[in-house]
Amino acid sequence: MKLFDSHCHLTDSPLFADLDEVFNRAANVGVCRFIVPAYDLESSRSACRLAAKYVSVRAAIGLHPAWLSQTTVNDKFSPEPLRQLARLRSPVAIGEIGLDYALDQYLAEFQATVLRAQLELALVLSLPVIIHCRRAFEPLYLILREFPGVVGVIHAYGGGPKLVEKFIALGYYIGFGGGLTRPNAKKVRQTAMVVPSERILLETDAPYIGSHTVLKGESEPRDVLAVAQALAILRGWSLDETASLTTTNVKRLFSV
Ligand SMILES: [Zn+2]
Repeated sequence: MKLFDSHCHLTDSPLFADLDEVFNRAANVGVCRFIVPAYDLESSRSACRLAAKYVSVRAAIGLHPAWLSQTTVNDKFSPEPLRQLARLRSPVAIGEIGLDYALDQYLAEFQATVLRAQLELALVLSLPVIIHCRRAFEPLYLILREFPGVVGVIHAYGGGPKLVEKFIALGYYIGFGGGLTRPNAKKVRQTAMVVPSERILLETDAPYIGSHTVLKGESEPRDVLAVAQALAILRGWSLDETASLTTTNVKRLFSV
């Protein structure tokens, strides 16, 4: 059985300081490959460095909406540094990018501008995108619809089972993480029941999103196994079947 963590921040502590052990613990439970997304320029560069060093790692580059809220240079955004990095380092995706209205302070218009610019970049580079979204699924949908040539994954999807059909119709994949392991996470579990099997990705968002048994900030790629187990039970699939389906999906989406 081979599992793929489609979203883990191996560039961040505490994972980065202990990578060999993190890889070992993952391999022990069949988690063998990793997509490492970024949230600013520095993490984009770090993700690319990791991908150059480890064959099991592939990088994504992009600017996350939470990072935007820390910058005051609203009118100075340019996708140019990302474009240059993409030329040099061949990332497999643009991400994570998106909209986040759950932040204490957010600039909805600025978020939309930067998201559109990065979707445009993905289109030009023929790369898929990794989307982050909190409390902004309707506006997100309208923006993604403007870019019919772009596909990707909505990671740690929390928009519910009704809206998910609209994203599926646009061609998007849906990422499920530790939330699925929580017995009381009704919305996420209902969503996992309706997403077509060929559109499901597994992830941990390690170290950030925890699970039923792992605390926030302490998760690792090995925890993708628990997500696979939860999905298998929900859908009535065997664990092997779940692993093979979802790993095939990651490979198809990111061409890896
Ligand atoms: Zn993330």
